[in-house]
Amino acid sequence: MSISVSTAGLTQAYSRHALDTDVIEQEKKISLTSQKNRYLKRLAYSPATMKLFCALAENRLFRTKKAERKLFYARLLIMLYLHKGRYQRAGEIEEYLQSNADLKSKLRFTIGNFQPSGVEYIGRSFCVLVDARVQDLSEYLLSNIEVVDDWLTANLADLQTHTTLFFMSGSGPSPFNGNLNDVYLKLGHYRKQPHDREIVIHAVIHEIAHLYLRNTLGFRICQKEFGIRKFFDEGFAQLCGFRAVRALDRKCAHANTCAKAAIAEGISTLRESISNWDNTLFQKRYYPLYQSALSFVAYLEQEYGYKTLIELFRTSSYDQNIEDTAAKLMGNKFPDLLENWAEYLDDDSSAQKTEFFSITKSERTNTRTLHIEYDSDYPVYPLKDVLVCDNSQHQLVVSSTQKYRYQKTGSFSVECPSDNILNFVIAFDDMVQEFSMRPDL
Ligand SMILES: [Zn+2]
Repeated sequence: MSISVSTAGLTQAYSRHALDTDVIEQEKKISLTSQKNRYLKRLAYSPATMKLFCALAENRLFRTKKAERKLFYARLLIMLYLHKGRYQRAGEIEEYLQSNADLKSKLRFTIGNFQPSGVEYIGRSFCVLVDARVQDLSEYLLSNIEVVDDWLTANLADLQTHTTLFFMSGSGPSPFNGNLNDVYLKLGHYRKQPHDREIVIHAVIHEIAHLYLRNTLGFRICQKEFGIRKFFDEGFAQLCGFRAVRALDRKCAHANTCAKAAIAEGISTLRESISNWDNTLFQKRYYPLYQSALSFVAYLEQEYGYKTLIELFRTSSYDQNIEDTAAKLMGNKFPDLLENWAEYLDDDSSAQKTEFFSITKSERTNTRTLHIEYDSDYPVYPLKDVLVCDNSQHQLVVSSTQKYRYQKTGSFSVECPSDNILNFVIAFDDMVQEFSMRPDL
């Protein structure tokens, strides 16, 4: 197992981003504003003091009584050890977290348990290291990985960093660390099928696009504008990922369908969901946040051009208001940009109405929950492809109960305490099916 490639990329990243804000995706509130944490991160990410930091953090991790501090040290140590190939120690710290009920309940992802298979793909601007438990699956998913380097060379030619992707077993969020240029991709939800391979290649480019924004364009996610910056950030990452697998048109059609459903409840609800980014992401997983982001950013690109988008990321420095920067570059105030986008969606007909999905069984499992089984011509991921609202356009909670994300036959649950009509939108790529039903039928 060689990680020399990622170590080479490291020095470059360190020198420019020793004081970066925390860009670990799907994670933020580890007292980012705290001077002490910033100082410690500088210590952790600087090659000269990394060893010293590890010794210090090992000591503090086990001595401090405060759960937040333990998590701070443990997360950093796990990522640093994975980066340096010290997998056993990363695993031991992960185990320590898992064995403590309080700490475990606060974890949003687990990445420490990496068992190298020896299988790796080394490309020009990234490499992939594969966990033994997903070796067979990874070999399939990597079978046309060359497209990633080709696309990066042709489209993000000024990409300055080298990314290491860990293909990991298990499921859950797949975070990244912008200081280390490392991505931790969980593969447990995927299978050996062309659809999932496309999604995973998209995910690889998606993550590298985040790192491009951070480390080449200097775009930061700052605490005070966390949600709105993530909205642009995720929209751009989605755009790159789907463009790279030549799926942008159909994925934009899907995103537009989902964004329309979100906007039907009111732009203010969407804005609230964006502002409360983490809450929406983790507590309202059915809400089409990433789809809305893609739809909006793709709309901006279409209206104002790719160069303007890049300019937006390049010039939205830490102390500037990103809405003002967008308004300046695009000649429209941000609320007007949103209104114009909503109008554009109203006229959009990129998704074809068709029938590809049927409900085979529905039954109440309790007074609040309806369990639904389905058959579909295409592999759908209920959490992203099934939108249910009541008659006032309010999105209802959909939970996925299937192990694998994309399946032609599966099930999901809808939270519906009343017997009022439910309105369904089923979106798969550029196809959409709409119908209504009563929960008691
Ligand atoms: Zn992302």
